[in-house]
Amino acid sequence: MNIVEEVKNRLSVFKNLYDIFRLVDPVNKKTITVNDNSIEESKGYCYDFWKRDEFCKNCISIRAYLEDDTFVKIQNNEGKIFLVTATPLILNNNRYIVEILKDITQNGKIQTKNDSSENYTEYVLNELNEKIIKDELTGVYNRRYINETLPVNINKSIVKQYPLSVIMADIDFFKKINDNYGHLIGDKILIDFCKLVKYHIRKSTDWLSRYGGEEFLIVLQDTDLHSAYKVAEDIRKSLENTVFQYDDIKIKITASLGVHQLSSHKNNMDELLLGADRNLYHAKITGRNKTVMEL
Ligand code: GH3
Ligand code: MG
Ligand code: MG
Repeated sequence: MNIVEEVKNRLSVFKNLYDIFRLVDPVNKKTITVNDNSIEESKGYCYDFWKRDEFCKNCISIRAYLEDDTFVKIQNNEGKIFLVTATPLILNNNRYIVEILKDITQNGKIQTKNDSSENYTEYVLNELNEKIIKDELTGVYNRRYINETLPVNINKSIVKQYPLSVIMADIDFFKKINDNYGHLIGDKILIDFCKLVKYHIRKSTDWLSRYGGEEFLIVLQDTDLHSAYKVAEDIRKSLENTVFQYDDIKIKITASLGVHQLSSHKNNMDELLLGADRNLYHAKITGRNKTVMEL
């Protein structure tokens, strides 16, 4: 059986379930066309369908790809509501994702009666999709978003031949803050720390995420090591000069930061994070309240 027949055969069970089905490569954000015996990438991007300029932040295909499992989401598109299912499929030893789209505007549980409820539905759906990729306390992106988006950003920077850098930031002696003032104040500091960091990064190309506890990852697209170092130093100095005030409690904190640029020969996420982590460690053991960017 050739590939086309194989794909058709495997997908025939979905005949009455879908309005659209397509094969995608979620890492490169390409739609795949299966010809007689070859697999080709389409010209545009998979997110063109949603009339977007950028890939979907709640991409379930990359989730299906990374976790080798089936994921479902509900997505608005020009007044219509789609149920989207993403499931992995191995072809020629490569993992692709079958995306099955069903227009459920009329026959879904969520009914859109008039304009205002339509806006409300859209709001609720966006909230739901955002929740999955955001940290509950601080509202910045979570670990799942890092795993799903950083590899895509890395790929893009390689294709477009621009630099990509990351900053790993860890608050110094944070345990003492909790011990001295309690966890609630600790939580407030984490929220305000994120606000401060966001002020220093570009909205369009950079993003902040919580890597864990009081450790944060900042991704800077189209940014080389020295520019990233400057951003990290701006954050560090600004933090050093900030007094956080909660009622009559005044608190000052510092952070240590490790900066690393994606190298052209070891261009993967693990290496990138390891490099930033190594530099963060150096900043910690050599005195804290410091930025380190050694290669
Ligand atoms: P270092 O300078 O070496 O980073 O010291 P540290 O005290 O910051 O590091 P350590 O790893 O010993 O402690 C981190 C603390 O962060 C312990 C943990 O209770 C606290 N923490 C982690 N997540 C949260 C959170 O969501 N809220 C609050 N309030 N504290 C948290
Ligand atoms: Mg710490
Ligand atoms: Mg830590």
